[in-house]
Amino acid sequence: MKKCDYCGKEISYMEQYCDENCHRKALDFYQLQEKFSKLFSIVNIICVFGIPIGIFISTFAGAIGFTLLSFSVAVEGLIILILPFPVENMITSMPLCR
Ligand SMILES: [Zn+2]
Repeated sequence: MKKCDYCGKEISYMEQYCDENCHRKALDFYQLQEKFSKLFSIVNIICVFGIPIGIFISTFAGAIGFTLLSFSVAVEGLIILILPFPVENMITSMPLCR
């Protein structure tokens, strides 16, 4: 038996969702996921650059560099904790993991 993409209820092979409600909820979820994926990618890029820049700045301006470095690491860690689903996209989009 095929299962509803949203709630997992058993459905016929002709359908993708058990009812219109599940279809709508699933679409909302995918939209939300897409939105957060973009936000995550942007923040992730900033943090990925923030870490080496922080290390670089800390060589001549210790306090500022260290602040930037710890901020980048903290934000990166927080994002991974609060948004678990985009991480999966990030991992699967990495060529090494294919
Ligand atoms: Zn359903």
